[in-house]
Amino acid sequence: MFVGSKFVLLRTTRHKTAYSAARRTTAAIATTKTTNTANKTTVRPIQQHQRVKNARAMTMMMFSSSSSSASTTTRGGDNLSRATTTRKKQRHRFQRRAIASSSVAAEAGGDEPSSSSSSSSSNKHVSSLLSWPTRTTLCGSLNISSVGEKVSLCGWVDKQRDMGGICFADVRDHSGLVQIIGAAEGVHANQSQIDEILSSLRSECVVKVVGVVRERNNKNKNIKTGEVEVEVESIEVLNVVSKSLPFSISEGEKSGNADKSSEEVRLKNRVLDLRRPKMLKNLKRRHEAIKKMRKVLEDEFDFMEIETPVLSRPTPEGARDYLVPARTAAAGSCYALPQSPQLFKQMLMVSGCDRYYQVARCFRDEDLRADRQPEFTQLDVEMSFTDADGIMNVAERVFLEASGMHKKVQQPFRRMTYAEAMEKYGSDKPDLRFDLEMTTLNDVLNDTEFPPFKSALEVSRSSVKVLVVDDSQAGKNKISNAKLKPKGEIFEDAVNAGSANGLFFCRVAEDGKTLEGAKGLVEGLANCAEKIINTSNAPPGSLLLFVAGKTKVVNTALDKVRHKCANMLNLIDPKAHAVLWVTDFPMFEYNEDEERFEACHHPFTAPNTEDYEKNPDDLTEARAIAYDLVYNGVEIGGGSLRIYRRDVQEKVFKAIGMSTEEAEDKFGYLLDAFQYGAPPHGGFAIGVDRLVMLLCGAKSIRDVIAFPKTTTGQCLLTRAPGEATTEQLAELNIKRIE
Ligand code: ASP
Repeated sequence: MFVGSKFVLLRTTRHKTAYSAARRTTAAIATTKTTNTANKTTVRPIQQHQRVKNARAMTMMMFSSSSSSASTTTRGGDNLSRATTTRKKQRHRFQRRAIASSSVAAEAGGDEPSSSSSSSSSNKHVSSLLSWPTRTTLCGSLNISSVGEKVSLCGWVDKQRDMGGICFADVRDHSGLVQIIGAAEGVHANQSQIDEILSSLRSECVVKVVGVVRERNNKNKNIKTGEVEVEVESIEVLNVVSKSLPFSISEGEKSGNADKSSEEVRLKNRVLDLRRPKMLKNLKRRHEAIKKMRKVLEDEFDFMEIETPVLSRPTPEGARDYLVPARTAAAGSCYALPQSPQLFKQMLMVSGCDRYYQVARCFRDEDLRADRQPEFTQLDVEMSFTDADGIMNVAERVFLEASGMHKKVQQPFRRMTYAEAMEKYGSDKPDLRFDLEMTTLNDVLNDTEFPPFKSALEVSRSSVKVLVVDDSQAGKNKISNAKLKPKGEIFEDAVNAGSANGLFFCRVAEDGKTLEGAKGLVEGLANCAEKIINTSNAPPGSLLLFVAGKTKVVNTALDKVRHKCANMLNLIDPKAHAVLWVTDFPMFEYNEDEERFEACHHPFTAPNTEDYEKNPDDLTEARAIAYDLVYNGVEIGGGSLRIYRRDVQEKVFKAIGMSTEEAEDKFGYLLDAFQYGAPPHGGFAIGVDRLVMLLCGAKSIRDVIAFPKTTTGQCLLTRAPGEATTEQLAELNIKRIE
C-alpha cells in the first residue's frame, strides 16, 4: 500500500473544505447507511474520514439535482426508506436489461461515440463537476489478510457482470485488479442505488469504490487478489468512456484483444495500449532495470550521472545524423542530435570526472528494423585509469543486476575473439544457446574443380564455408532436401542474405569418409571429401551446407541458415541464457561499395598495442581493444578502451580517409583536449531498449518503449513528424524544394 496514513490524516484534517465543496457538487454518489454489517470492520484512520465522506455523500444526495437517476433519486430521507422497498422491483428490471459487459468496437480506432446503451447509463451517474478523490489502497494489493478492512479504491472497470440482479465488477489499477460486489439484500439501506450504478458500469469507466474486504466464496486462482472481494458501500463514477474502444484492455477479454489488433492500431491508440496490464508490466520492468543499473554504478562503483547536450555537433558512430537547423547561427548551420554522448564522455574524463554514466537518449537516422528506433536509450558509461577487464567487470555487474540473472550466469562472462566468432558462427553476435558450427574450407579446396567453388575462390576477400548440421537423430524433423533446393525455405534464406548461388548441400555417408548427394557436387568434391569431413568434424549422416562467395556474404548467409536449422530442429532451449563478450574486433572494416575503410566500432577506439607497435603507420589490419556484450544472439552493448593521445587519434582519422583539415574542423576540440594531459580511459554502453525487450520476452523493442516510432520513423499517436509552416522554415533560412 503506497498511500500511507500521512495522506489519510491530511485528508481528514482537510475535510471541512472537502465538505463544503461537496455541498456545491451535484455528483450522484450512491453510498450506504450500514444497517447490518456482517463483516468485521478494522478501525483505521480512514474510517473517521470515511464517515465524513459518507455524511458528505448523504448530503449530496439530499441536495442532488435531476442529474441523478430519476428512478432512484427522491428527496432526503424519503430516498432511503423507499430504496429498500423498491429494491426487488429494480433487480427484476436490471435482469431484463441484459446489458453487454463490454463496449469493445468491432471497428478499430473508431471516432464514433459509444452507443447510447453503453455510455449513457453510466453517464448519468457521473458528476458534472470535476473531483479529485483519493484512495487508501491499491486494487492489486488486497489479499486474504485484508479481510475485514474498509478500503477505498480508484481505478478502471475491467469487466462488469450482472448475475441476475447481483452485480459484480473487476476494478483495475496499475497494481492489479480486484472483484467488487454489491452487498446482499438488506445489508445496506440504499442498496438499490448502488446496484443501479454497479449495473450501469461499462468497461474502462473510472470509479471510486469504498467497501469492506471479504473472503470470496468462489476463489479465482488466476488472479493475485482472487481470494477476496470488496463489498461495495459506496461507489462514485468519476468518468465514463464516450468513444468506442478500439480493442479491449482487459486481459480476460479474448475477443477484440489488443494483441490481435494490428500494431498500427495499437500505436495509434497508444494511450489505451499502454493501459493494458501487459504493457504496464513492460514499462515497470524497464523502470526496474534502469533503477538497478543506477544503483550498481553509484553504490558499488561510485559513478556520477552527468547530462550531456542533445543539441550538438555530429559524432561519427556510423549512422546518418538527425539535423536541427539553428535559427540563430549562419544560414545552413545545424545542430546534430547525438548518435551517442561518446565525445562528451571522453572529454569528461579529460576534465577529471573519473567515472561518468548517463541514461542517455541517442539518435540515429537509419533504416529501421524490428530492433531499431530512430531515438533509443542507452546506459552510457566511461571511466579513467582502468584496463579492459575493469570495464567489463562493471558492465557484467550492471547486466547481472538489471537482468536478475546472478544465479544463471557466472562472472566473468565467457569471452570469444571476433575472429573465432566469425569463423565458427559467421556472426559477431553468435547465439550460443545451440551448437551448430561452420568452417572455412579455402585451404582444403585449394585445387577443387567444382566450378562454383573454384570461381568464388579466385576473387579477393572470398570464402567457401561449410555448416555442419547433425540431424541424424532428428526423426521426422530431419531436414528434407526440398527445403534445401532452390525455392526451399533454407535455400531462399541464403539467397535473401545475398548468396548468388544460394546453397549447396550433401550428406556424409555412413562410412564417415565419403559424401552423398547431388552428382555434380559429390563428384566435384570427391578428391577432398575426407579432408572436408575431418576439418569440419562432420559425423556420419550429417548434413553439409556450403555457401561460396564474398566472405561477408558467406557469413551472413550461413548465419541465417544456422538459425533456421536450429529452429527447425528445436535446438534452442527457451530457458537458456547464453551471455558472452566478443573481443578483439578489427579496427576497420572495408566498405566494398565505397571502396574505403571505416571504423568497425567508432574512430575513438584504441588499437591493440601489439598490432600498433608492429605497424603504427598502417592500422588497417590492426585489431581494436573493443568488446561487445552478446545475449542470446543479440548485441546488447559494447565498448572499448579509447585513444587518449592526439598523434594516435590523427592516425586513425587518416586511416578512414579523413584529411587533417577535416579532422581539425570536426574534432579539433577533442584533439586539443588530448593535449592537456588526457588520462587513459575507456567505457561501454548498454542498449536499454534491447535488453529490456529480452528480459520481458517481448518481440519488438516497441513493446518496451512508451511512445515508439514505426519503422518509417513516425509516431502514430502524435503524427510526428509534422510539416513545418512556410514561416517557420523561412525563419530557419530553409526553402522547400518543389
Ligand atoms: N558510443 C558507443 C556506442 O554508442 C559505446 C561506447 O563505445 O561506449 O555504441
